[in-house]
Amino acid sequence: MHNVDIDLVEMSLDVIKYAISRISDTDPKLGFPKKAEELKALVGETVTPQGIGGEKAFALFRDVLVKASVPIDHPRHLAFVPASPTRAAVMFDLVTSATSVHGAFWLEGAGCIFAENQAMEWLVSLTGLPEGAFGVFTSGGTEANLSAMVTAREYWRSLDPSRAHARGIVITSNGAHSSVVAMAKVIDVDVVLIETENEMTGRQLDETIAKMSREERSRVFAVIATGGTTNSGIIDDLAGIADICEKHRLWFHVDAAYGGGALAASSVRHLFNGIERADSVTIDPHKWLFSPYDCGAVIYREPALARKAHAQEGSYLDIFSDEGAQGFNPSDYQIQLTRRVRGLPLWFSLATHGTKRYEQAIERGIELAQIAGRLITEAEHTELVREPSLSCVLYRRIGWKAEDYRAWTYANHKSGFALVAPTKWRNPEGPETVSRFCFINPDTTEKDIADILDSMK
Ligand SMILES: *Cc1c(COP(=O)(O)O)cnc(C)c1O
Repeated sequence: MHNVDIDLVEMSLDVIKYAISRISDTDPKLGFPKKAEELKALVGETVTPQGIGGEKAFALFRDVLVKASVPIDHPRHLAFVPASPTRAAVMFDLVTSATSVHGAFWLEGAGCIFAENQAMEWLVSLTGLPEGAFGVFTSGGTEANLSAMVTAREYWRSLDPSRAHARGIVITSNGAHSSVVAMAKVIDVDVVLIETENEMTGRQLDETIAKMSREERSRVFAVIATGGTTNSGIIDDLAGIADICEKHRLWFHVDAAYGGGALAASSVRHLFNGIERADSVTIDPHKWLFSPYDCGAVIYREPALARKAHAQEGSYLDIFSDEGAQGFNPSDYQIQLTRRVRGLPLWFSLATHGTKRYEQAIERGIELAQIAGRLITEAEHTELVREPSLSCVLYRRIGWKAEDYRAWTYANHKSGFALVAPTKWRNPEGPETVSRFCFINPDTTEKDIADILDSMK
C-alpha cells in the first residue's frame, strides 16, 4: 500500500536521520519501562480511522515510546544475553525491508537467498560438520530448537512404523535453555533432565539411559546438549555425549544459541570439540554474531531429513518445487513458511567487515569476562562464584541477600546507569541468588565494569 498522502521524502529523511543518529550513538539512554496506563496517558490513542499522521506518530515514538524501552546494545547492559548489532547489519536490515523479498522460496528470493546462504556456509564451516551439512536462518533459537526436534522425531519415527504413535523422550540437562522444555511441550514429548552443577558429561548421559526402563529407553529419540549455557556459559562434554548418542543411535542436537559465536574464537574453540558430530546445531546470530533481531539459525548434518519433516505441500505451493524454480527453499527446513530474508543483514555485515573482525569482536567479549573476573577477585566486597566461562561471569557481593541484588538492579536501571540482573546459581546447599555479567558488546570498557562493581559497595 503506497500511501500517496504522506510526504515520502520528508518522512524518509526523518526515519533515516533517526536511524543514523541512533546507530552512531554508542552510549544510548538506557530506557526504563513504564506501566501501560502511564504510556496511554502520554501517547493517547494512536490508531484512529483518520490516522494521526507520520510526523506525530514518529515524534511519539522518539520522545516517549523508545524511552520506555531498553536499547539492547547499551555498553553497560550486561543482563540476560545482550546484543550489539553492527552498524552495517542494522543499515542492511532497513535495506532488507525496503527490498520486499519473500524469503521462503528460491523462485521468489533466489538472489537474496544466495547471499544468505554464503553467510550460512561460514556458520556451517565454524561447526566443522562434514560436507553436505547446511542450515537456514530462523526467527531465533527457540524456533531453531523446535525445527531440529521435529526433524529428529520424524526421522526416529521413519525408522520404525510402530513408533508412529509412540510418545518420544528427549534427554537434556538442567542447564539447557527454557525453550527446550517449552518446545518439547509444543511437540508433546517427555523431557528427562540430567541434574548437574557444571557440564553434562557423556558418562552422566550413559548412566541416565542405563537407569531407564526398557520401555522408556525405546522412546528416547534425541539428546540436547548445550554449547554455552545461557546462565553461565558452560559447554557440555560434546565429544563424550556424541559417543553415547552413537552407541544408542540417538539424534544429537547441540543448542549453541548463545555460545555458537564463540566457535569463531580460537582461544576457546577446543571447548566445542565434538560439535562436528552433531546431527543438528542451533546458533543465534542475533546473540553473539552481531545481527539485529530476529536472526537464529539451525544447521543439519543431513538437510534432506529436515526437508522430509518440514517441506509443506499445497496446490498453490506446487510451483515452488517445479523444474524452473529449482533451488534452495528455506521454508523446507524449518517450521516457518513466509519469512523475511533474515540472514541478509548478517551477510552484508560479514561481507563488509570480513570474518576476522568477527573473531576479534567475539574474543573481546571473552576478554571482558576475564577482566571482570580479575576486578571481582581484586575487590574486597565481591568474589567469583565460578571462573568466567565464555563471556558469562557469575559473582557475589559478599553479604548480600536476594533483596539486595534486586534493589541494586532496579536502582541502576532506573538511574540509567546500567542493567545488570541477578540470577540463581545451583549450589549443593540449594539455589543462591548471585549477580551475573554477559558480555557481547565489544565497546564495553574496563571502566564500565569497574564502575558497576563500585556501585555495589
Ligand atoms: C537464547 C537461547 C535460546 C532461545 O533463543 P531465542 O532466540 O530467544 O528464541 C535457546 N537456547 C539457548 C542456549 C539460548 O541461549
